[in-house]
Amino acid sequence: MSGPRRRLYVKSYGCQMNVYDSHRMADTLAREGYVETATPEDADVVILNTCHIREKAAEKVYSELGRVRKLKESAAADGRRVMVAVAGCVAQAEGEEIIRRAPTVDLVFGPQNYHRLPDLIARAERGSRVVDTEFPAEDKFDHLAAPTRDATRARGVSAFVTVQEGCDKFCTFCVVPYTRGAEVSRPVAKIVAEAERLADAGVREITLIGQNVNAFHGEGLDGNAWTLGRLLHHLAGRPGVARLRYTTSHPRDMSDDLIAAHRDLPMLMPQLHLPVQSGSDRILAAMNRQHTHADYLRTIERLRAARPDMAFTSDFIVGFPEESEQDFRDTLAIVDAVGFSGSFSFKYSPRPGTPAAESNDQVDEAVKVERLARLQAAIDRAQTSFNASCRGRTFGVLFEKPGRLPGQLVGRSPYLQPVQVMAPSSMIGDIAEVTITDLGSNSLFGTLAHTSAHQTTYIEPAHAVAGA
Ligand code: SF4
Repeated sequence: MSGPRRRLYVKSYGCQMNVYDSHRMADTLAREGYVETATPEDADVVILNTCHIREKAAEKVYSELGRVRKLKESAAADGRRVMVAVAGCVAQAEGEEIIRRAPTVDLVFGPQNYHRLPDLIARAERGSRVVDTEFPAEDKFDHLAAPTRDATRARGVSAFVTVQEGCDKFCTFCVVPYTRGAEVSRPVAKIVAEAERLADAGVREITLIGQNVNAFHGEGLDGNAWTLGRLLHHLAGRPGVARLRYTTSHPRDMSDDLIAAHRDLPMLMPQLHLPVQSGSDRILAAMNRQHTHADYLRTIERLRAARPDMAFTSDFIVGFPEESEQDFRDTLAIVDAVGFSGSFSFKYSPRPGTPAAESNDQVDEAVKVERLARLQAAIDRAQTSFNASCRGRTFGVLFEKPGRLPGQLVGRSPYLQPVQVMAPSSMIGDIAEVTITDLGSNSLFGTLAHTSAHQTTYIEPAHAVAGA
């Protein structure tokens, strides 16, 4: 492409799915000659890739658009045109309303439409204001550009691969089935090809992602539907990547073969994010979670039986409509019973269009605040205790980048904790045995289990993994 390259700034909100989508948008526009820039000030195209999960998500996007409008106006004063796009789940949910409320926006598109981005930008540049929130018949993944080796390297040694999207569970508080659509799994061959490309560019750890990832049922290499467990086995048997993870899972979809994969695959990391949302059977039923408190604990037990060093994190909602003090205590009981290594907790806030938002039994805000504080204290205690149990242990750490101090690297433990270690920068991308010596507020500190880099024991995949 001749002439100056156009600059793209993508701001990603929310979950890993959005981070992955933002990367794919950048890869697709790179094919059109765009380069990514780290700041919106010098961008020709600004994309806000939004998330609808958090409270007042749409309002936060409108206030961010106020800041973007000023950038756009100042660029216009310099004779430069800036294209502003809103993508992701807020775009899907709000659609035309965004154009109406924020005239600075040129383009609105949903999570299923970002493969059309070059065409959408071209239409917007011709002067139309474009809204594309349909669920297209074509598979967007077939139309997306693969990242270049340089882009993959710049994004680090750990990468995401989307294996499924959407959700059919219809939890009564959640917008995902409406914004991301029905559950769709990608074919195994395409996932493997993407994983191999990443491994080839130096990625060591792949996290398979999906809104309900363990409902995966993509077409396998033999033409039959494969489960997530089977996909993990296949990836684990291929050369390249040393670590596998997957997120986010639903307790109901923890099938026998997926649990067995935790027993059989050393490179499947012993950490699982398994949202429970509430510990009360009454509230779980009202949430349409399709499992009980006891079901959840049984699943945890079975996973621990399969892999005794498993650690768990979860998501919680407090103050769901009709939640009583006893319901809330049932939630605290599940925190105590599992001993989570960390968790996310939120006050319930109604999402327009979801069944729970219509309830007349909303919990008082002050009660929600008080319960959230108690829950977070319980989660913090569990996390502190889990981290303390790591002191003196030796496990593999994947070094990702320089640490805070000169000569220090930061890596990830099998449990996703950041670990600070004095080690040479040549070890970025290596997995080395580290003994945990100390605990910080947000990370662990450790030393290489062997004193010189040459003596470091690298954990090579027992079954080489092609990574995602
Ligand atoms: S399983 Fe997860 S993504 Fe699906 S509806 Fe429930 S909360 Fe939303």
